[in-house]
Order: sequence, then C-alpha cells, then structure tokens
Amino acid sequence: MIIMEEKKDFRDLEQEVIDRGKCALCGGCIATCKLLDYRYLVMDYDKERPVMGEGLQCPPDCGYCYYQCPRVEKPELRRELEEMYEVVASDDEIRAVAQDGGAVTALLAYALADGIVEGCVTVVRDEHWRTRVQVAMDRSSLLKAAGSKYTPSAALTGIADAIIDHGLWSVALVGTPCQMAGYEKMLAVGRDTHNAHNFASIIRLRIGLFCMGSYSYERLVNEYLAAVHGININEVTGMQISNNVLHVYSDAGELLSADIAEIEPYKRDGCRVCEDFTALFSDISVGNSGTPEGKSTVIVRTYTGKDVFEGAIERGYIEAKRIDPSGAELVHRLMKQKKEAGIAEKERRKAGK
Ligand code: SF4
Ligand code: SF4
Ligand code: SF4
Repeated sequence: MIIMEEKKDFRDLEQEVIDRGKCALCGGCIATCKLLDYRYLVMDYDKERPVMGEGLQCPPDCGYCYYQCPRVEKPELRRELEEMYEVVASDDEIRAVAQDGGAVTALLAYALADGIVEGCVTVVRDEHWRTRVQVAMDRSSLLKAAGSKYTPSAALTGIADAIIDHGLWSVALVGTPCQMAGYEKMLAVGRDTHNAHNFASIIRLRIGLFCMGSYSYERLVNEYLAAVHGININEVTGMQISNNVLHVYSDAGELLSADIAEIEPYKRDGCRVCEDFTALFSDISVGNSGTPEGKSTVIVRTYTGKDVFEGAIERGYIEAKRIDPSGAELVHRLMKQKKEAGIAEKERRKAGK
C-alpha cells in the first residue's frame, strides 16, 4: 500500500520556520499566496512575521507557501560568473542621494530608461524609518528608494504587486541575499508544481545587496537609538554600516558612530542562521565592503547581469574598474565569516544550546 505524504501548508511553515526564529522575512510566502489568488497572508511588521487572516482554511492541494520558503530548503546554486568591480554612478543627482557610489540606483535607472524593465521592486522608508515595498516605475521613485535601511522589508511581496496591481511583465528586483534566495526558490517551486504565474519571465534583473543582518525595528529604533542614545528617529537622515561601524546621520551631521557589536542583540533571529553575505542568487551583487568610501563594490554573477552592467557603462550610467585584489580578498573573507557564523548558529540551535 502506498502512503501518500500529506501536503504541508502555512501552519507547518509557522511551526517549522516562523515560530523557530528562522524566518528571513523575505515575503516569498505572501507573494506566492497572492499570485495563486488566495491572498491569505500578509506581513505583520509589528510582530515581524507573515500571518494568515483569521478563520481561513488552506485548500488541501495548495501548500506552495511552505515548499517555496528558502528556510524550509535552500535553493540550488548555479554559478556563472564572479567578476568584481569598483563602481560609481556617473550622475551627480544619483550620487548625492545614494550611498556608496550609487551603483544600485544607476543600474536601475539604466534598466528603466533602456526598456529592459518596466518597473523596479525597491524599498522606501517614511520619516520614522518604517519601510515599505514599492514598485518604482520612474526615476523620481527610484531616487526615493536610495540609501540603506537596516530594518526588515519583505521585498518579494513586490513581485506579486508588480504583476497583479501594476500589470507589469518585466521587472527588476532589489533585495537582500535571503530575498534573492527566496525568489530563486519561488522560481524552482513554481516551475515544477504550478503555472498560475510564470515567475521566471517577470524578473529580468536581480540586484542583491550585501547584508550582515537586519534589525528589529522596535528594538533598534526605540530601545537602542532612542533609549540608549537619545536619538529621535524623525531627525535621522541616513544610516550606514561600514567596516563594522554603525553611522547615524542627521542634516546637522553625524549623530552616532558605534561599534556594530552594540546592535548585535537587536539583530533578528532569522538573520543569525543566515550564511549568505553577498547575495549569491542575484545577477549583480552590490555593497560597500572592499572599495573606498563613496564607491560601490559590484559583483557580476550572471551573463544577464553582465549584459546590464556593460550596457550601463556604454550608456554612461556608471563608471567601473576592476576591484583592487585586497578589496576582493576582504569580500571573500566576509563571505566566509558569515557562512561560518550561520552554520555555527544552526549547530548551536540543533544542539539546543
Ligand atoms: S523566510 Fe520568507 S518564505 Fe519563509 S516564512 Fe519567512 S517570509 Fe515566508
Ligand atoms: S497553503 Fe496556499 S492558500 Fe494556504 S497560505 Fe499557503 S499559499 Fe496561501
Ligand atoms: S542577514 Fe540574511 S536573513 Fe537577515 S536580512 Fe540579511 S540576508 Fe536576510
């Protein structure tokens, strides 16, 4: 007698991933549910977890949110390239609003202007530094998304918004390494199990951001910045982590410069098991480690990414040169450190320590 394994669903995702402090808040489960036209899930940013509406019952043949979660099972990595560059945006306006050379904004501006994409899934913040996922379809919306944010934003929800709410079929996705992995997993599961939406065709460019961690909004803003340092978040105009130092700026100048170890307690649990620093599942990865201040470190990872990168150079959107070998070495060292830390944390949890 063949015993069919019962399909898992969102309740299992809660028990196995979310309640166990493994959720990366990528938003993939919410996007998948919306793309399947159930729309049962939303991101509760106060609780920092995906939640299901009261009284809803998942159909027995669904379960896609569970199987596409990158924290249930990692996607398979296919390596194409690893070319590292030091990059700066050519445009003064982009450099003025962006951090670290403005490569992300400049690449997106090129992709929009050249018709490679119709929209870009990016993250904006309000005056309280609360984040919101947006689908930017023009330059001014792109400029609003420039600059780092260190609190969670479920960027993958923007994929469903781009398709369903905006009717787009060519989109760029910007996100953290976990979000790039989440999208890769959406592709893999969608391809093999359902064709409600052809995820593969909508994202034409994946730009991954270097990431050492994301921090709980309430704890970072209220417990740390406000209570420990007396900083009113509404006055903050910029935050940046570079060389293990958190810098917080206002219009008047630097408000805080603190060792990153100070904010370690506020890091989200789901980030502690994360092994990917440079977004291995992206077409192009961008960060600030390994290049001088005011420049972006760019890693071209796929031939799709290479086409866009070279097009942006040809059309005068970015200036690029090969990264200094010491910069590449630093990036590789940080990649190794993060991978080892994530594995060690998983082992620690497995051992119940
Ligand atoms: S990691 Fe992503 S897909 Fe998995 S539960 Fe969290 S938000 Fe959903
Ligand atoms: S099992 Fe299906 S319907 Fe239920 S939350 Fe997941 S994707 Fe939505
Ligand atoms: S540390 Fe990992 S899980 Fe956390 S935001 Fe960054 S990429 Fe995502």
